[in-house]
Amino acid sequence: MTDHHPKWDREVDLLITGAGPGGMTAGLVAALDGLDVLICEKSQQVGGTGSTSAGTLWIPGNRSGAAAGFTDSAEDARSYLNALIGDDGADPRRDIFLREGPGIIDDLTSRTDLDFVSCGHHPDYRNNLPGAGSSGRAVIPAPFDGRVLGKDFVRVRPPIDDYFVLGGMMVGKIDIERLLGRYRSVENFLHSARLVLRYIVDRLRYARGTRLVMGNALVAQLYYSLKKNHVPILFGTAFKELIVADGRVTGAIVGGDTGPVRIRARKGVVLATGGFAHNPKFRASFMPDPLPVHSMAVLENTGDGIAAAELAGARLDAGRNQRGGLWSPVSRIRRKDGSTGLYPHILLDRAKPGLIAVDGEGRRFVNEGVSYHDFVEAMYRSNESVPTIPAWLICDLSFVRKYGLGAIHPGTRSLRKFEKSGYVIRGDNIDGLARRLGIDGGTLAQTVARHNRFAATGIDEDFGKGDTELNQFNGDPDNRPNPCLAPIDAPPFVAVAVWPAEIACSAGLATNGDAQVLDSDNRSVDGLYACGNDMASIMAGHYPGPGTTLGPALVFGYRAAKHAGQQASSPS
Ligand SMILES: Cc1cc2nc3c(=O)[nH]c(=O)nc-3n(C[C@H](O)[C@H](O)[C@H](O)COP(=O)(O)OP(=O)(O)OC[C@H]3O[C@@H](n4cnc5c(N)ncnc54)[C@H](O)[C@@H]3O)c2cc1C
Repeated sequence: MTDHHPKWDREVDLLITGAGPGGMTAGLVAALDGLDVLICEKSQQVGGTGSTSAGTLWIPGNRSGAAAGFTDSAEDARSYLNALIGDDGADPRRDIFLREGPGIIDDLTSRTDLDFVSCGHHPDYRNNLPGAGSSGRAVIPAPFDGRVLGKDFVRVRPPIDDYFVLGGMMVGKIDIERLLGRYRSVENFLHSARLVLRYIVDRLRYARGTRLVMGNALVAQLYYSLKKNHVPILFGTAFKELIVADGRVTGAIVGGDTGPVRIRARKGVVLATGGFAHNPKFRASFMPDPLPVHSMAVLENTGDGIAAAELAGARLDAGRNQRGGLWSPVSRIRRKDGSTGLYPHILLDRAKPGLIAVDGEGRRFVNEGVSYHDFVEAMYRSNESVPTIPAWLICDLSFVRKYGLGAIHPGTRSLRKFEKSGYVIRGDNIDGLARRLGIDGGTLAQTVARHNRFAATGIDEDFGKGDTELNQFNGDPDNRPNPCLAPIDAPPFVAVAVWPAEIACSAGLATNGDAQVLDSDNRSVDGLYACGNDMASIMAGHYPGPGTTLGPALVFGYRAAKHAGQQASSPS
C-alpha cells in the first residue's frame, strides 16, 4: 500500500480491478450513470471463472419468473435463508439483496444487452426447508450470438474443454436433453440439426462455436454492453496496490507490459479480482483440513484484491462458515498434453439411478443426489472418521452409456481411452473393482447388494436418495419406482474418483450493503468497494440454490457503482 500523493499517470472516476461478472457489472453501471470508468484485467480475456460457469443467478422474486407464471417472494426466500443460515440481523446485506435484487436485474436488462430468462422448474438445494422455492427463483442468460463481437470474440474466455461437444460447440441443459433425444421428436431433431449446422458454419471462421450459453453468454453480454458504452479495458494489466491518502483510497498502481501505472480514481476503486482461490496463505487460513488441492477458479485469481485491502486495514470475513468455499466434487482428467483437467460433477450423474458414492472403506456416506456443495460438505464430515477424500462414484457400464459419468458423455460406447488415461477404473466384478480401488471386496459387495435391495423397493433406507424434489429433478423421471435408484448389477463395473474443489470462495472482504469495504471497527474504508468473490459471501458458506454467487455478484457490483457515483471526488 502506498500512503502518499503520487504523481498520477492517469485519472478516472472509478477504477475496476478484474473483468469477471462482478467487475464488469460495476463498470457497466458506473458508465451508464455517466462516470469515467477504467477496467484493468490481469489476463488477455474477459470473464474469469464466470465464463466457465453455468451463468445462473439466484434472484428470488425476479420478474422473469413471475412472467412465466411462477409465484415467489422475497419474504419466502427470507424465511428459507433464515432456516438455512440463521437470522443474521447483524449483516444487512442479505435483506438488501432480497429487496433490491429483482429491480436491479430489471434495470440492467432494460439499459444494457444483458438478457435473462426464467430457469423454470429448478428446486432450491434444501427444498425441504420452509420458504424454499422450486420454480422460477433463478434466471439464466439467454443464448448470445458471439459473432456480434466481431474480432473481439477472442476476448471472451472460453468455458472448460469438457463443456464443449464436437470440440467447440457449447450446449446448455436443454440442448443436451434435445440432442440426446434427437430421434424422439421432430422438434428435438430440428433443434439439434440447427445447432450442429450453425456450429459447422461457425468453424469456417472461428476457433469455436459462436452460439454462447450459460456463463459464457453472461460474460459476453456484459462485455458487449461495455463495448457499446465505450468502457476501456486494459488487458494484461494486473491491479497491484492501493494508494491511500488521509485514510481514503484515492487510486491504485496497476502493472502491464510497460511497468507500473498510477491511476487516480476520484470516486473509488472496486476490487473484483475473483477471490483468493490460488493464494496459498489465504487458502490455508480459510479452507478446511485437509486443504482442498483443487480449485475451479481461473489461475489469475490469486487474492490480489483481498491482500491489498488487508494492507489498507480491511477486515476479512469468513462468516460463521468454517470452510471458506462453495464446493463441487471434481474428477481429474489427464489430458494429451500432460496437463490435468477438472470435471465438476454438478448435476448430470450423481442423482441418476444406478450410481453410488462410497468412502475409502467401500461404504456409502451420503445421499448422492444432494447439491454439489452439500456433497463435498458430506465428504469432509465423513473424512473425519473414514478416508473419504477422494471418494468413489461407482456404477455399471450400462449407466455410463445411458447417463454419462463426469467427462464421459452419455452414449459413449467404449471406455478404453478413459481407462487408459486413468480417468476411470473398471472391474469385471465387484470384487475385482474393489481390489483395484484398494477397498475390501466384501464390504463393497455388501454396500452394492444393500443399495440394489433399496432399488427394488424404491426406498433408500440409509440416505433417502430420491426422497427430495431436488433429487427427483436431477434423477430420471422414466425410472420407476424411484427416479434416483436402480440396481448396479450388470458387469463390467466402473469407478471414478472425486475430490473437493471450490467453484467460488466464500470467505472474503467484509462489506456493508453498498459494497463498501469495512475495517476491523466495522467502519467503511472510503473509496474502496468489493464485489464478486472478493466480497465475503452473503450466504456465509451455505449454498441455498442455483446461482448463489452470481446473483449477489451482479447485485453488489451494481450497488458499488451506484454508491461510488454519489460520492464527491477525492481531493487531487
Ligand atoms: C463450473 C462452475 C460453474 C459455476 N456455475 C455457477 C452458477 O451457475 N451460478 C453461480 O452463481 N455461480 C457459479 N459458479 C461460480 C462463479 O463462476 C463465480 O462465483 C464467479 O465467477 C465470481 O465472479 P467474480 O467476478 O468475483 O470472479 P471471476 O469470474 O473469477 O473474475 C475475476 C477476474 O479478475 C481477474 N483478476 C484476477 N486478479 C486480478 C488483478 N490483480 N488485476 C486485474 N484483474 C485480476 C481475473 O483474470 C478474472 O478475469 C460456477 C463456477 C464454476 C467453476
